Amino acid sequence: MGNLSKHDMNIQPQPFLSDSFGRIVNNLRISVTDRCNFRCRYCMPEDGMIWLDKGELLTFEEITRLVRIFAELGVTKIRLTGGEPLMRKKLHVLIAQIAHVPGINDIALTTNGFFLADQAVDLVNAGLKRINVSMDSLDPATFSSMVRRDYLHKVREGLDVIEKLPIRPIKINVVLIRGINDGEIETFAHLARTKPFIIRFIEFMPIGADDGWTIEKVVPTREIIDRINVVGHSLVPIEYHGTQPADRYRFDDGIGEIGFISSVSEPFCSSCNRVRITSDGKLRTCLFSLHETDLKALVRGGVGDEEISDVIVNAVWKKEEGHLINRPGFVRPERTMSQIGG
Ligand code: SAM
Ligand code: SF4
Repeated sequence: MGNLSKHDMNIQPQPFLSDSFGRIVNNLRISVTDRCNFRCRYCMPEDGMIWLDKGELLTFEEITRLVRIFAELGVTKIRLTGGEPLMRKKLHVLIAQIAHVPGINDIALTTNGFFLADQAVDLVNAGLKRINVSMDSLDPATFSSMVRRDYLHKVREGLDVIEKLPIRPIKINVVLIRGINDGEIETFAHLARTKPFIIRFIEFMPIGADDGWTIEKVVPTREIIDRINVVGHSLVPIEYHGTQPADRYRFDDGIGEIGFISSVSEPFCSSCNRVRITSDGKLRTCLFSLHETDLKALVRGGVGDEEISDVIVNAVWKKEEGHLINRPGFVRPERTMSQIGG
């Protein structure tokens, strides 16, 4: 066989977004609203949140256009978040639009679960592939103390509905705060053994004002693993070569899994493959970025796709090497997690 050109072999040059540290970015988190009906103590203050005007939010058409531009640059995975994304009216319509963008093969959602029972069927029918539900406690009083709302029953109801739908995996995000809900590690481990859930313990991070973060309140992954092993349920590591931050384990006698997001004790910055767009259309290349790129101004300013694409490529190239939590030089971003899009 003679030498074949790329054209002959029908190989397209692979477009990709990369940063100056050689990381490929294929994962885009999009916040669809900064509003929320919960007031999680680690995410936003109890009172005084000022929401964006509705006109500040990217429209579904603007979001879909940006997704198309990112997809042409190699992004394949989208996660919708917020604020509480299910507070954005007709989110399933946006999901259906994104599902039609060539190159996007994974659409996920992070939600507090409150509206899930009502919306789950529409979301899945529209093309939602994966879901993360935040649920910090299985005890109603502790749950209310974490999220400042008495809504555990609504979250459980939502989980009951999605368990019956064809959407897997179902991940449950648990932010542990020492002295508040760390007594439930073993209870969550039991849930992961008996239900088809991936329980993901997320280390408490300092972001936004008024969260009372101190390093003592962070429950490190190592401690959680030790505590689960002590109660006699052996955790079996799952070999995993992806870029996902969670280390994953299963039980030798269980159905679900346990995962760890060790952003404080073992940051995963060197393999970070994601960037974010806030609900008001600012591109952030790190959760802890101190700098944002205003994509909404370009979209609303009549700028063409190619030029927007160039701006994105340049911004991603400058993606931060990593965050400095608990190290000298760390500066908290001003925006809360709900304003950035967790
Ligand atoms: N409202 C939705 C929810 O709660 O799932 C989506 C937005 S929320 C900001 C996304 C995720 O960020 C949630 O799982 C939440 O627990 C997590 N989160 C918020 N603040 C955090 C913090 N300070 N440290 C660690 N995780 C945090
Ligand atoms: Fe709302 Fe999610 Fe923040 Fe809790 S973590 S206040 S549910 S945005």
